[in-house]
Amino acid sequence: MLIVMDQKANPQDIAAVIKAIEARGYTARPIPGGERVAIGILNNEGPVDAALFLALPGVKDAIPVTRAYKLVSREFKPEDTVIKVGDVCIGSGGLTIIAGPCAIESEAQALTIAGHVKRSGAQLFWGGAFKPRTSPYSFQGLGQEGLKILARVREKTGMPVVTEVMDFETFELVEQYADVIQIGTRNMQNFSLLKRAGRATKPILLKRGMAATIDEWLMAAEYILEGGNSNVILCERGVRTFVHHSRNTLDLSAVPVVRKESHLPIIVDPSHAAGRRDQVIPLSRASVAVGAHGLMVEVHHDPAKALSDGGQSLYPDQFEMMCRHVRSIYHILQNRKDDK
Ligand code: PEP
Ligand code: MN
Repeated sequence: MLIVMDQKANPQDIAAVIKAIEARGYTARPIPGGERVAIGILNNEGPVDAALFLALPGVKDAIPVTRAYKLVSREFKPEDTVIKVGDVCIGSGGLTIIAGPCAIESEAQALTIAGHVKRSGAQLFWGGAFKPRTSPYSFQGLGQEGLKILARVREKTGMPVVTEVMDFETFELVEQYADVIQIGTRNMQNFSLLKRAGRATKPILLKRGMAATIDEWLMAAEYILEGGNSNVILCERGVRTFVHHSRNTLDLSAVPVVRKESHLPIIVDPSHAAGRRDQVIPLSRASVAVGAHGLMVEVHHDPAKALSDGGQSLYPDQFEMMCRHVRSIYHILQNRKDDK
């Protein structure tokens, strides 16, 4: 249930509602909004009696929340969440482009690619230091050395950096270096990692599990918000189907569904969805057309020599073209906002 306070409610009214919620053994979660405060009731088993709260001073409404996820839902927070990373705002009102190589291979490689993607308009740099690989014989990433290189890229280019955390043990280390911490598809339901992410001081980019429903994905995000970290960016990256023409199938319908159900920003990773370079640009255009708040794209200056995912990495000039195309599409949508 969500208790909506009147605009004129004072801090004592809010405190009294929180006390009344806690007195019944529930958890109260105040959610400051633009106009007025709402207080979410969590940890209730079974329905909550609205009458208990409607009688209290300053209470405007008590709305039952019908979804299993609470804090991530629009029922709890109607306004879009915008996440600030350095000077970049991720969410409604802008298009954020995150780009870089699948894996950090060397400082020279990372700086070369960072220079290219920055010139084309990427706002955040992406690169993996700890890589989840299907084969134990594949390149596993440079680990801490990769994180240090990411820090140098940030220093030299001014771009905030996004990188993946693979396990609980290395979380603190990754948190020290990253501006945004990615939880990849294979870890979407790693609940101890999600709980740790809830205590993190950095925003979390939560990719959709490759076989996860949207409800399961939003419940995974709920773990992070419930733990106290409300800065979560969702990332659709394709789901596994029976097809052979792409590595996964990009579920574009997830974008409008998530935007309807949740206030969290949603971006799309067309690179891991496609698994092939020739599909990345069309899928990027489609993602923006369908309402994504941003894109995350793999780019490499010499994909033939890349140590991972070279086959799906765009060449810098292709990335530059992609940026131009998606920005044009985004501007058309912005200018047509009123005739929905
Ligand atoms: C990645 O971003 O490099 C990655 C491994 O992505 P995903 O978790 O979506 O497969
Ligand atoms: Mn990759």
